[in-house]
Amino acid sequence: METGSTNIITQSIDELEADFNHASLTKVLTQYIPQGKPRHGTHNRVTKLDKAQRMWTWRRFLDYLCALCSFLDAGDDIASIGVQSLGYRACFWLATNEPGRAKASAEHLQRLIQILENASNVPLERRLPFMRAVIEASAGAAKHRYILYQRKLKHTLNILEKELQSGTTSKETTVYNDLHTIVTASSEQVVGSAEAFFHSASYQNLVQLAATKQGVYKDLRHLVGRLCLWYNAASFVVRHATEFRQVLAGADVQVISQRDFEKKPIAIASTVQGVFAKVFRSQGPIAPMAGQRLAYCQPLLDALHTKPQRPIIHAEAAMAHYFSEKGLTFAYNDPYISCSKPSCYACMLYMRALPLDLVDRPYHGNAWLRWKMPVSRSDNERRDARILRDMFDFVRRDVESCVMGERYGRRAVFESTTGMSGQLPEV
Ligand SMILES: [Zn+2]
Repeated sequence: METGSTNIITQSIDELEADFNHASLTKVLTQYIPQGKPRHGTHNRVTKLDKAQRMWTWRRFLDYLCALCSFLDAGDDIASIGVQSLGYRACFWLATNEPGRAKASAEHLQRLIQILENASNVPLERRLPFMRAVIEASAGAAKHRYILYQRKLKHTLNILEKELQSGTTSKETTVYNDLHTIVTASSEQVVGSAEAFFHSASYQNLVQLAATKQGVYKDLRHLVGRLCLWYNAASFVVRHATEFRQVLAGADVQVISQRDFEKKPIAIASTVQGVFAKVFRSQGPIAPMAGQRLAYCQPLLDALHTKPQRPIIHAEAAMAHYFSEKGLTFAYNDPYISCSKPSCYACMLYMRALPLDLVDRPYHGNAWLRWKMPVSRSDNERRDARILRDMFDFVRRDVESCVMGERYGRRAVFESTTGMSGQLPEV
């Protein structure tokens, strides 16, 4: 047997999970950027849905529904939907990162489906009230989220204000003034104010400035995009409701049941070299080399020790696991698991490892320590062990190539192609 490799015959799931946690952590460390933002800079290629693919509209439709059912800041409240075909009707299964939030999201989803079903029977030009109903209900439930975006916009606009003091064009001043109306809007008017800005000439100017000057303008454009989420999502799902009328009609919404697990803090080694030694054992020079090259990650490791890191089952992993365990049939025979955010490194690996032949979904590539594989029935323990072992081996090869190739502490080169398919690095 290869030194440092795991042995699925003798290792329990708990031991394999402990190994995988350390492997995830080595990946987290290679992505750490000590200064600037973001603190986690993936060097994997970030991907979006492939617009050229046949079911693009359906997949986008589901991702938008997930976004409309996430009420807190995106990182804190993630929803996943998988749609099961029952022949005569459909069932929308819903999972959240925090199982306690799933019920409220499911009730909201049921309401949205009702609005969309009604909209699907009305000509396109008379659907404005339905779009307004979707925005009102969804943004109304997500007040914390848009207030946070408004606060971030205010902070970023203050930075722009200081920059503008050293010389400015009239275009920049107009953009600043128009963005200021969103910042000063009352909580009831923030989302509508962002939508009005989105339709103004100032937004086009902001897009141009973000492309040419980057920096603060890019951040402002991003935040305006966040605040326009409800408008963009609502107009998309209402516009396309007719195409999916058959699935929406009389559809049921169910929350997937998750087995409870012990949320004790994840145990990790205390030094960078120690973390790598857990994954690479005494194999070659990787652990001592990583200990030297990534020594700047020690403060991050210390912080992870100070604040207990408890495992989470990510929403899309839970959903994929559920469809796999129950052998459910996907609506339109399209094996797509939707989610309110692009997926992380481990979720993508996990979804590919399941025998479901899932369509790749958008992927941001960041690895997190707080990731737990959904637990199977006991008769699938052997399969789960194999999945964990394969994921561990993949991460180990990937991290080894990062350390040897000095690909750490930086972000992927930005790729402007929007229609690319999801690809994990070949290692
Ligand atoms: Zn994930």
